[in-house]
Amino acid sequence: MSFAVAPLGCNCSILRETATNETIVVDPGGDADRIIDLLTEKGCKVKYIVHTHAHFDHVLGTHEVASHCRNSGHASAVCMHPGDLPLYRILPQQCGWFGLPPVEAKEEISHRLEDDEVLSFGRFKMHVLHTPGHTPGSCSFSIAERGILFSGDTLFAGSIGRTDLPGGDYDQIIKSIKDRLMVLDDGTTVIPGHGEFTRIFDEKRTNPFL
Ligand SMILES: [Zn+2]
Ligand SMILES: [Zn+2]
Repeated sequence: MSFAVAPLGCNCSILRETATNETIVVDPGGDADRIIDLLTEKGCKVKYIVHTHAHFDHVLGTHEVASHCRNSGHASAVCMHPGDLPLYRILPQQCGWFGLPPVEAKEEISHRLEDDEVLSFGRFKMHVLHTPGHTPGSCSFSIAERGILFSGDTLFAGSIGRTDLPGGDYDQIIKSIKDRLMVLDDGTTVIPGHGEFTRIFDEKRTNPFL
């Protein structure tokens, strides 16, 4: 299940494997209480909290959600690509770029994501694709057996992520999308970091940046 969370409408997703209740949370960017309520309601055992990147609107709920998991007795790994750790550490400044009050990055990143790493939950496997360009450590997450891709702020429906913030690189984001995302199955559903879902096929056909 995916839903937009404050303050910038980041798409947060909760993926639960029903046989084991093992769960992955993607981008708890805010509204931690709502995320926690959903996790509690479904009896989720959160194995991984993963971040597509370290922009503040994708990490603001991380500490509260991770604390909830700890208090529930689940050893949840908090995951990010090391390329984005410098951005994560300047979370208070990032908030300032958008005129928001500063928030410290309180939660320790306990698991550094690697390109091509596989995170398993129940019978499913989530494949980590390092797709730099929006930020140096931006990652996309693919669950091939379900035909789903979480593209973070790398690929949007009809657009791509901005590359004018610190660490952004236009040529790199285009290369990441073409080499790593456009090679996925055409029917793959793309759940971006913001906005409407799309499909690889539709982006190949109509995305003006590709
Ligand atoms: Zn971003
Ligand atoms: Zn974002």
